[in-house]
Amino acid sequence: GRGISIPAISRDKQWEFTPRVTPGDHVDEGDSLGVVQETARLQHHVLVPPGISGVVTIINEGAVTVTDTVATLDTGESLTMMQKWPVRQPRPVQQRRPPSIPFITGQRVLDTLFPIASGGTVIVPGGFGTGKTVVEQALAKYAQAQVIIYIACGERGNEIADVLSEFPHLTDPETGHPLMERTILIVNTSNMPVAAREASIYTGVTIAEYYRDMGYTVAVMADSLSRWAEAIREISARMEEMPGEEGYPTYLATKLAGFYERSGRVECLGSDKREGVVTIVSAISPPGGDFSEPVTQSAMQLAGGLWALDADLAHRRHFPAINWKQSFSLYIAGLDSWFQQEVGSDWPTLRGDLTALLQKEEEIQEVAQLVGSDALPEQERLTLEISRFMREEYLRQNAFSETDGSCPLEKQYWMLKAFFEFLRYCEDGLSKGRSLDELLDSPIKHDLARMKDAAPEVSVSQAKALIETMQSELSGVESSEGSLTNG
Ligand code: ADP
Ligand code: MG
Repeated sequence: GRGISIPAISRDKQWEFTPRVTPGDHVDEGDSLGVVQETARLQHHVLVPPGISGVVTIINEGAVTVTDTVATLDTGESLTMMQKWPVRQPRPVQQRRPPSIPFITGQRVLDTLFPIASGGTVIVPGGFGTGKTVVEQALAKYAQAQVIIYIACGERGNEIADVLSEFPHLTDPETGHPLMERTILIVNTSNMPVAAREASIYTGVTIAEYYRDMGYTVAVMADSLSRWAEAIREISARMEEMPGEEGYPTYLATKLAGFYERSGRVECLGSDKREGVVTIVSAISPPGGDFSEPVTQSAMQLAGGLWALDADLAHRRHFPAINWKQSFSLYIAGLDSWFQQEVGSDWPTLRGDLTALLQKEEEIQEVAQLVGSDALPEQERLTLEISRFMREEYLRQNAFSETDGSCPLEKQYWMLKAFFEFLRYCEDGLSKGRSLDELLDSPIKHDLARMKDAAPEVSVSQAKALIETMQSELSGVESSEGSLTNG
């Protein structure tokens, strides 16, 4: 009801506070006074708020509530575990760092073709039913981040009910802890007031910054930014401001920029030089799936990456329905040296080969539409077949599959390598007069297709074995130990 105010954090709950400083220590803004084990996997640092410093005179220990004083400084300041921060104001940092580490999603099409940086921003626009929510939720489950802030902004309530009932049962494959222990849900469904919806995005990103300041890698999933923009439009109309394009206020782009500005990989405040990250992934639901509308357009100019969802692909049940022609990432050049060092020196080459193959498929298909695919030379039919194979067995990934929901980079790398080795194997076969149909029916292809559902270690060793088999056949040597060097 009106006028009721309920605290967002319980004022009665007691937390076990373990101090990290002793009386006489000098502390600066951003320094950790102590820790609270918030969940089994998350240690919550109680930080000296921005703008405050001094010598600790009293430090508390043990069970405290968020409003109890945990430390007193010689300046007379009493610090509590709870801090207040105006959500529309970015929290200060020491300095920003370049976006040179990838935000690993476990989704092959995203990590291989359009990787974004940890601390970067990406938009996921798509019409109704193209898979925005599924992508956001898959990232909330599998993306490499220590803290996930999931903002359900103005979408249907039953979707968030799904999240609320599903997430507590999910465990993180890496740590074995429940995923809920690293997840914060901000729920603002379509039937809730628009003013709260407008604030929910800022609340989310402020909480993200708060954990970033403790030195965590945080990812913000916003679903959807369009509903937020609509809330702004509604508020602006009620305030009788002059409307801009499609009724959105003229300051829409500025507001969006202010939101995206809060992402980044930064050196946090505090004397111990820790690094914190906020990555923002925001879904956008353009009416009718038309990307030329103002919210998509403004966001596209601001975000460093675009994962465009395609109604045609979704219709054909090619999921994730990421359109590889439309999507882009501006971070690739800055990330390649990381990929080369951590995954494989030929990673950028493999990505380039895949992009080229998909492009070539499209060109050949145009010709095929004129002359019929039977009239194509075998080499071109091979390109079509391998490209289709890549789309179906590599780019497609079932987010709900237990085995294939997430694909680690090493597995991606070896899958790609094996697939391209198969292309070379077939090309060589053709040149030696073998028939295309026979090559495509080879048991190797069936093994390749099964790789995505195998456990990462298994599929990596499968890939290596398959590559060896193909290479030894290529070089005409029977498969044996050491034959790799002949290939
Ligand atoms: P949107 O949020 O864009 O309206 P959803 O994310 O709810 O769309 O997706 C609609 C449906 O598409 C899902 O219920 C699911 O059946 C299917 N889908 C989307 N992405 C995937 C995926 N990666 N794997 C399997 N199915 C998917
Ligand atoms: Mg949705």
